[in-house]
Amino acid sequence: MTERVDERLERAFDKRTATALGKLGLVTVGDLLGHYPRRYADPGALSDIAALEVGEHVTILARVEQATVRPMRNRKGALMEVVVTDGNSRLSLTFFGKHRGSLYNHEKRLVPGAKGLFTGTVGLYRGTRQLTHPDFTLMGEESDLDSDEALLEHATKPIPIYPAAAGIPSWKIQGALRVVLDTLTDDDVPDPVPDEVREREGMPGRTAALRSLHRPATLKEAYRAQHRMRFEEAFVLQAALAQRRARTAAEDATARPPLPPGKPSLLADFDASLPFVLTDGQRAVGDELAVELASPRPMHRLLQGEVGSGKTVVALRAMLQVVDAGGQAALLAPTEVLAAQHARTLRALLGPLAEGGTLFGAERTDASTRVALLTGSLGAKARKEALLQAASGEAGIVVGTHALLSEQVQFADLGLVVVDEQHRFGVEQRDALRAKGRVSPHLLVMTATPIPRTVAMTVFGDLETSSLTEVPAGRAGITTVAVPARNTRWTDRTWARVREEVDAGRRAYVVCARIHPDEETKAPAKDFDDVPEFLDPSGPGAEGAADRPPLRAVLEVVEELRSRPELAGVEIGMLHGQLPADQKEAEMARFASGEAPVLVATTVIEVGVDVPEATAMVIFDADRFGISQLHQLRGRVGRGTDPGLCLLVSDAEPGTPAFARLEAMTQTTDGFKLANLDLELRSEGDVLGAAQSGRASSLRLLRVVKDAGLIEEARTAAVDVVQASPDLTEFPELAQAIRAQLDEDQEEFLERA
Ligand code: ADP
Ligand code: MG
Repeated sequence: MTERVDERLERAFDKRTATALGKLGLVTVGDLLGHYPRRYADPGALSDIAALEVGEHVTILARVEQATVRPMRNRKGALMEVVVTDGNSRLSLTFFGKHRGSLYNHEKRLVPGAKGLFTGTVGLYRGTRQLTHPDFTLMGEESDLDSDEALLEHATKPIPIYPAAAGIPSWKIQGALRVVLDTLTDDDVPDPVPDEVREREGMPGRTAALRSLHRPATLKEAYRAQHRMRFEEAFVLQAALAQRRARTAAEDATARPPLPPGKPSLLADFDASLPFVLTDGQRAVGDELAVELASPRPMHRLLQGEVGSGKTVVALRAMLQVVDAGGQAALLAPTEVLAAQHARTLRALLGPLAEGGTLFGAERTDASTRVALLTGSLGAKARKEALLQAASGEAGIVVGTHALLSEQVQFADLGLVVVDEQHRFGVEQRDALRAKGRVSPHLLVMTATPIPRTVAMTVFGDLETSSLTEVPAGRAGITTVAVPARNTRWTDRTWARVREEVDAGRRAYVVCARIHPDEETKAPAKDFDDVPEFLDPSGPGAEGAADRPPLRAVLEVVEELRSRPELAGVEIGMLHGQLPADQKEAEMARFASGEAPVLVATTVIEVGVDVPEATAMVIFDADRFGISQLHQLRGRVGRGTDPGLCLLVSDAEPGTPAFARLEAMTQTTDGFKLANLDLELRSEGDVLGAAQSGRASSLRLLRVVKDAGLIEEARTAAVDVVQASPDLTEFPELAQAIRAQLDEDQEEFLERA
């Protein structure tokens, strides 16, 4: 069955129109219907030309008297001046073009005698009122606008303004939609929102909503339709997630209950050896995980937590419960540095408990295991050994990067997958790792920083959520200061402060946005480890920022610091993603031990690096980083009992989003607050893009920030529907919409890969 919406545009229109629409990526009638107006020009009431007031937003019904195009006098470009009349008075309309050709369409349409509606804001030029770039609709250009009456009636309606492309201006798109909508019936447009949901929510059907979006009688009608389409987006997404949750909930998993007291237990021994008491949050989340791991249904949980809240210990305790029960745990980290560090941290935390299987283990206890590290850059011998330990079960815990996803990696009995700092992993990768268990392993995903609830619901909607909001007591806190980059007194002071920290036995990070000084600004290091989130359109490399000094680079800053008098005699280390893995490890170790107490690095240190003695951080070009990234970076200092200091060096101008971000950073260290603020300051694409979920591509009208309430409603409705019909056999249109969405995401994912 071919639906009307699947009809190709070549069939519905002449070749030229179809080709032009194709430039907007529109292939089918359904695509065209889904090309929503970017905004609506509000015509308001019809005005008399004689009564127009400057500054007023008006619509007039008028006829073109004359139109002239000429080159601009003092600069490049062309100017079109059109004089229109309503029979009594005259008014000028002005259009500017980059060159004459760009006014060609207007010239063709606004010929003397043409009659239509013109909408715009009244301006004043040399004492005369005029409209600059008014929106307009001309009589006769659209089939039913053939009389004054029709125009007058039309005059009260909002004019949809479409995202357009060369050769296909907004009014042509409007015309094409008119043709389609004229013959569209309810049966042509499947509605993924079931009737009962729609009725309960008091929303129009899909066909009606499309008509209202593209040809609204009033703005209110258009907004109502937008609301319904937003709901639909949220609903389809949430239904897909609800199905995914239901499916995993129905899978079998191996129950990994905690051992009874008295039995030799890694977890018990570990708890007994902890040098600190768990926070209440760590304890509560730990209990939650313990119960779910003990169940024969797979756990599927997101652990989000403040930077430094101690997620690693929580995850390790869950892993130990699984190892105690005879299973293995895999810990997946986004970078080699972090994977190596995790392995080191886990071994250190476990102490003798991690020396199982070693013949000469100093104090073998009854319960012990091994931690294996598996990354892409291991030498052949080390790799073979790690693979063997994973496959034999000798390693209860296997830590690694993407390398863990490779087919050669096998586990004896994989019981739990922990994904750290989820930001960089997609759903697909999660699935690839989970597929390595004989039955579904339990899954724990940890975010790097807290995320707002609706983002969690949208991007991680297939997971249950736990949060750690408190950081362990006894941390001295961090002071954050914005430092103007061009001020040499500040610069001197910065390095003097770093020197003070070093002299007191502490360490400092210096973060740069790129590695090489001559590297293209737009192209950050190829290494996955170093990709900062370049998200500020007003940043360097963007238009209008030509006079900005180039970004500071690791290699250059290292040299500079080595010759600074303040840092004389201080060993300066260097870390970035282009170093070989063993050198990265060595540099981290030199820093951690204090041998090289100042480390110049890329954002490679962003996630999870844990050196308690690190107290100072200097971030160059801080305006180039997103809030969550800054928060994450800053979380690297002030982790011990000494107070932290974070210096954000930038030339951000007050009033820019970049400045607002830095200001927020100096005012709070509360990750949840910052996450919400971040959402407000960012565009949607950034938010979802950063979260790296293909699913995000489906969101067009939906705004994760503003539509929080609507997302919640859609989620509730979707859960009901999926409960009523888990396979959605009763809701074929919804099932179809989800399939279509998955296909689209798949494509997107493949394109990105
Ligand atoms: P994050 O949640 O950012 O991943 P980590 O797990 O790296 O945080 O923990 C940060 C630091 O706090 C580590 O050095 C860890 O050993 C320490 N830590 C964890 N829990 C506690 C606690 N309850 N009391 C004191 N220190 C703790
Ligand atoms: Mg961590």
